[in-house]
Amino acid sequence: MTQLFIGGKWTDAADGATREIRCPADGSLVGVVAEASRQDTERAIAAAREAFDRGPWPRTGAAERGDLLLRVADLLVSRKDEFARAESLDTGKRLVESEYDIDDVAASIRYFGKLAGEQAGRVVDTGNADALSRIVHEPVGVCGLITPWNYPLLQAAWKVAPALAAGNTFVLKPSELTPHTTILLMRLLSEAGLPDGVANLVLGAGPEAGAPLSDHPDVDLVSFTGGLETGKRIAAAAAGTVKKVALELGGKNPNVVFADADFDTAVDYALTAIFLHSGQVCSAGARLVLAEEWHDRFVAELVRRAEKIRLGGPFDPAAETGPLISAAHREKVEAYVAAALAEGGELRTGGRRPEGPGYFYPPTIIDNVPRGGVAVTDESFGPVLTVETFRTEEEAIEIANDTHYGLAGAVFTQDAGRAQRVAARLRHGTVWINDYHPYLPQAEWGGMKRSGVGRELGPVGLAEYQEIKHIYQNLRPSPQHWFAD
Ligand code: NAD
Repeated sequence: MTQLFIGGKWTDAADGATREIRCPADGSLVGVVAEASRQDTERAIAAAREAFDRGPWPRTGAAERGDLLLRVADLLVSRKDEFARAESLDTGKRLVESEYDIDDVAASIRYFGKLAGEQAGRVVDTGNADALSRIVHEPVGVCGLITPWNYPLLQAAWKVAPALAAGNTFVLKPSELTPHTTILLMRLLSEAGLPDGVANLVLGAGPEAGAPLSDHPDVDLVSFTGGLETGKRIAAAAAGTVKKVALELGGKNPNVVFADADFDTAVDYALTAIFLHSGQVCSAGARLVLAEEWHDRFVAELVRRAEKIRLGGPFDPAAETGPLISAAHREKVEAYVAAALAEGGELRTGGRRPEGPGYFYPPTIIDNVPRGGVAVTDESFGPVLTVETFRTEEEAIEIANDTHYGLAGAVFTQDAGRAQRVAARLRHGTVWINDYHPYLPQAEWGGMKRSGVGRELGPVGLAEYQEIKHIYQNLRPSPQHWFAD
């Protein structure tokens, strides 16, 4: 059984509770892990507080902290197989996808490892030779880090690496469905020499194990990646102690295809935009916004290719994508499809769960969905593509922005001017032109509108974990006599 990691020690939950982790591809038992309650999380917060207030880590040089992260990245790469296998068993995703994920995790950790030593604050010109003014970056304190199940280790790394680079301590709570790679990461951090109490891990359900990270007075910052409703709850709870809050929430991401794009390329990307990892990607291109003159031909080709996509478990070499994460999530996707059809959408393919074990759901395409309906406003977080058409560039932009979310979007066109015009007007945090999905550790990632608050990755992704302090020194102090003697 795997335990919680608190103050440098592996420990059971105070009440001895445990949880079984099962592979969503076939229901097989992957492991049994400790299940934390509020009391355990409070213990972990106390350990992180002690390590921040009295431990060496926040006062360790930034370059040294960066070196530790580089060692972690090296260790991770040397154990890539073990990590990738664990990620695939928890999530059900194909092994090759988990291998890509681990490479991405290592790249993100390395990025922050290198950035750590480069950030030295700045000297401010006071305009006065007798005064010195400096801006310094300090760690925020104890960070509560809460992550989802779709990219478990990657989402953890996007928080853990900048938090450590900046000198913070943290309590991390991964999704209760996919804890294993996060557990392995904690072992690597210790092995790389991180002092006890800096990194703490609690496992378990959000409302019990996770909630204290948003409402506890000893937590200075909460960074959350997950669904909109949970994000709202966390922001409201965090307001009680005026914590810093970073939210990476969902998306309803438009993929805008103009009729001057390369047809085959646009079809190909439209498929990966939505069906990669069975649509369980926050930036999935779930809304195809398509030039009307291309509609029939484009959708027919999409349907033809979607029907060929092979579903299968993580170790099935023929599989092209895996299952949904859980029975409950599949039911959510089914309810979304039913609602989309009830409001007039036309089912072109998919829409029915296959027989047999595992929470599989086929690539599904719903055509001619009405503007403003559930189908185009709600996130399904599954392999469901909706199709809307436009006649003009202006209309395409209007449709693409007609959502409360604002995480990501794409535009396919061979007209460079149009590409830039549309990209400039999309109210989404990432815009791809003639591509879909790539992200870079050195480029900020995050959402506008209800897709979130703050940014991960890039220099801003580190700044989220830093306090900015202004230190002003009078170099020639003498009485000012503002008030009479
Ligand atoms: P979720 O909101 O159900 O859970 C996310 C995490 O929050 C889990 O660890 C969960 O245990 C925890 N949690 C739940 N209730 C909590 C509470 N009251 N207090 C504290 N923690 C709580 O989301 P999910 O189903 O795991 O993930 C899917 C969602 O995540 C999708 O909406 C997706 O779009 C979003 N997501 C966004 C990004 C991004 O970068 N913007 C990346 C991945 C996933």
